[in-house]
Amino acid sequence: MNTKQYIAIEDKYGAHNYHPLDVVIDKAKGIWVWDVDGRKYIDFLSAYSAVNQGHNHPRIIKALMAQARRLTLTSRAFRNDQWPLLAKELCQMAGFDMVLPMNSGAEAVETAVKAARKWGYQKKGIAQDQAEIIVCQNNFHGRTTTVISFSTEPLYRRDFGPFTPGFPVVPFGDAEALERAITPNTAAFLVEPIQAEAGILIPAPGYLKKVREICTKNNVLFIADEIQTGLGRTGKLFAFQYEDARPDMIVIGKSLGGGCIPVSAVLADEPVMGVFKPGEHGSTFGGNPLACAVAREALRVIKEEKLVANAAKMGAYFMKKLKTLKSRHIKDVRGKGLLIGVELYPEAGGARRYCETLAAAGLLCKETHDNVIRFAPPLIIGTKDLDWAFGRIAEVFAKLEN
Ligand SMILES: *Cc1c(COP(=O)(O)O)cnc(C)c1O
Repeated sequence: MNTKQYIAIEDKYGAHNYHPLDVVIDKAKGIWVWDVDGRKYIDFLSAYSAVNQGHNHPRIIKALMAQARRLTLTSRAFRNDQWPLLAKELCQMAGFDMVLPMNSGAEAVETAVKAARKWGYQKKGIAQDQAEIIVCQNNFHGRTTTVISFSTEPLYRRDFGPFTPGFPVVPFGDAEALERAITPNTAAFLVEPIQAEAGILIPAPGYLKKVREICTKNNVLFIADEIQTGLGRTGKLFAFQYEDARPDMIVIGKSLGGGCIPVSAVLADEPVMGVFKPGEHGSTFGGNPLACAVAREALRVIKEEKLVANAAKMGAYFMKKLKTLKSRHIKDVRGKGLLIGVELYPEAGGARRYCETLAAAGLLCKETHDNVIRFAPPLIIGTKDLDWAFGRIAEVFAKLEN
């Protein structure tokens, strides 16, 4: 079957909750993917940063296969030999006392929300059902009903109400607005260190540090959603490390699964994570040995292959090249590490047509909202392949100049 035929079947039987580029991928290796018609592309999205280690990483696949043959699922009704080791390795790597495992990112955000609320009632003394968690405009934290309850994007919310209350919204990057919004009922502030889905929005330097100070002063938990920015993507293991602003709770996912299995986690110190008692929260697949074995290897690969340092180095290298692009359609080039956005003027005709033209030229990336192109290749990439990608990008910008 060819591309057209696969697309016809997908569009007939699959729900239309996405608008993918018309590329049907059936094979991948490292930073490269191939489609069913044999065309080869460089992956410049990395499954929204879930493939930081590159596709089919030999060590991760080996760990996956070995674990699959041994033990895949026990549920948390029993214990297994992988979850304790992942828990310890993750806590030591991230510098937190305890960790709670889930599967998807949205589930981990829900977990952080539940932990913060329980902490608010039990430790801060907030009156029952009054807890508030402050969030930011243009946030993206996932797609569950509670999580979209505090989205400000109409597309994510329309006709999905009624919504979960208790989430005041403040502008992103505005520490004073956060401070003003805090009340005695505020349990936590939830924020992405960089708003990736909103279009790679980077707050002014010092923002997270101020957030940390304000939260400490007001006895409010600072929760960082590092699902996309974490595990090396921005050139630090976690983006909050740019500011020496350690959160009370972090949420991770995506590349924790090494590009092959959904695994997410919430990390916090004992005074916060200790609020969960047996039976109060859980997930059938959370902490399953297959996912844990993969996550352990995924973390080892990030560490041993020095992917964090490579993301910083390659990110700086590529940003410098992108800034030399001459196009009247480019409004801004911004990023940290290998999380980079090129914002176009509305007159450019939309980022979508750039992504389609880039795909035809052999580079896969995705528009975020209407006018931003996100460049986020796997963190294993080197200068030679970045040079090749830049050549395609320059070509496409020249072609679409009029
Ligand atoms: C992807 C993402 C999520 C949601 O993760 P899922 O695994 O898709 O549920 C939440 N927050 C951020 C910042 C993300 O990038």
